Amino acid sequence: GKTEARGSFRFFEPEMDARLQARRLLERDLREALTREAFEVYYQPIYSLDTDRVCGFEALLRWNHPVRGFISPAEFIPIAEELGLIVPLGEWVLRRACEVAAHWPDGLKVAVNVSAVQFTSASLVTAVREALRRTGLPGRRLELEITESVLVANPGSTTAILHSLKALGVRVAMDDFGTGYSSLSYLRSFPFDKIKIDQSFVRDLCIKDGTDFIVRAVIGLGASLGMTTTAEGVETEAQLAQLRAEGCDEVQGYLFSRPVPVSEVADVIRRWNGN
Ligand code: C2E
Ligand code: CA
Ligand code: CA
Ligand code: CA
Repeated sequence: GKTEARGSFRFFEPEMDARLQARRLLERDLREALTREAFEVYYQPIYSLDTDRVCGFEALLRWNHPVRGFISPAEFIPIAEELGLIVPLGEWVLRRACEVAAHWPDGLKVAVNVSAVQFTSASLVTAVREALRRTGLPGRRLELEITESVLVANPGSTTAILHSLKALGVRVAMDDFGTGYSSLSYLRSFPFDKIKIDQSFVRDLCIKDGTDFIVRAVIGLGASLGMTTTAEGVETEAQLAQLRAEGCDEVQGYLFSRPVPVSEVADVIRRWNGN
């Protein structure tokens, strides 16, 4: 009963109590949001420095909470992972992104983030195959972004899953490159198509000694392994000029556009690629 529940909180500090309660509410809202599909996918353009055109978009999840407004995915994705909700949520993003991208001009790809928990779930490859089949999106226009934590958790099954995905024609990117550990050995042993240079390096470009050197090294590494390099979090013309000079293939960041709702994607394409 109510008294009992209240009694069980008595050993906690008041602020801890409040935090736990806030967390429980968020969990409850998250479960409910999933059944009501209260999520939205935003899209941020990825710009090719080879062609000087937008070549694709990254799909980024948004949760518009009825009381709190927009809650950052950085806040609710870890909770969704813990609750096991990330699998249905991630599959929803995947379907939605493929559905939307199937209507874009043929050259444009869509990149979808896949969390470590989702990656090792039994249903990922099936979910990807089904999403492509149902939406008619060719596999080569879908890219999955995974972080090093996936590789650390289960290197054995990861190889098999990556190969199954590649058999569908899907491209695979290593996200947030440089923030984990053992990056170099992973690059050698897994069939990545792309390296995304983490925004923490891009932020320090032209500012912090040594950062230019790291970015140059990563771009060189990508080139010699036959992988595309994409720099994230590009906000200034100076960063862009530097990345261009180093031969980076693609850039993404507020300098080009913030993530936008699906209704504004056509405008972004028109703005950068013309009609
Ligand atoms: P991420 O995959 O590294 O995505 C890039 C983040 O950087 C996005 O934050 C994006 O809005 C932000 N960003 C883009 N350009 C700039 C810039 O110029 N400056 C700065 N300061 N930030 C920029 P967002 O959308 O809040 O997403 C945060 C993280 O949440 C993502 O990081 C990703 O790890 C995760 N996430 C988002 N959507 C999904 C999803 O559908 N599934 C999974 N598993 N994770 C997701
Ligand atoms: Ca990403
Ligand atoms: Ca990233
Ligand atoms: Ca290039």
